[in-house]
Amino acid sequence: AQTRTPLIAGNWKMNQDHQEAIHLVQKLAWALKDGKHDFSAVEVTVLAPFTDLRSVQTLVDADKLELSYGAQDVSQHVSGAYTGEISPVFLAKLGVKYVAIGHSERRQYHAEDDALVNAKSKAALAHGLVPIICVGEALEVRKAGDQVSHTLAQVDGALEGLSADDAAKVVIAYEPVWAIGTGEVATPQDAQEVAGAIRVRLAELYSTEVADAVRVLYGGSVKSTSIAELMKETDVDGALVGGASLDAEEFAKIARYQ
Ligand code: PEP
Repeated sequence: AQTRTPLIAGNWKMNQDHQEAIHLVQKLAWALKDGKHDFSAVEVTVLAPFTDLRSVQTLVDADKLELSYGAQDVSQHVSGAYTGEISPVFLAKLGVKYVAIGHSERRQYHAEDDALVNAKSKAALAHGLVPIICVGEALEVRKAGDQVSHTLAQVDGALEGLSADDAAKVVIAYEPVWAIGTGEVATPQDAQEVAGAIRVRLAELYSTEVADAVRVLYGGSVKSTSIAELMKETDVDGALVGGASLDAEEFAKIARYQ
């Protein structure tokens, strides 16, 4: 992981209106400053609801915060008759860097499949956004011992038709569904097993250069008490953090692996 800058990403999910978002980002900026956070050593980003992005942008720009920010979803289309959808062009214009694609909650409640994740990833990349592609198995799949093959099939589907240049830019978040929001964190060994397999697959699909460039995050009930051990694993390059990212102090601790 030495060549990859670790990424700690907070997924606020459907929490924080645009005013609350300002407070949370301010608190986070203070907490990171208090902890003397070195942004060149560990990148920190927050994935906010669409309606928060303008407030977050204003604050980040005004205070010259080193934080980046992102969205939790994006349309695969650029414009047109897609009521309720948000174009990657709009996100890019708001200074958005990252966009989560295929989060398990979108797969579960909005029937998003690998083909859609693939289309959204391509649309994001075409407009300069970095997709954080979420993959990971449900409990039944893990119980059957099929977590690696299941997750790699999602990776294959998400990357279908992507050039090596584009593939090298993506972030992949391994998020076992049974660990998301349950308080049950995967063991570092479980996270490494799948993260390592994802990297091997990237080398098979593209090259070792691409495999070395892509950051693979772990997500699922990460807390300040579990991050340090997870980050010791060779192929874990950061975390996608849900619940704990709503607490600025806790999230700042996670960003310094404490
Ligand atoms: C997530 O939303 O991606 C996530 C990992 O949530 P939590 O940390 O709450 O399990």
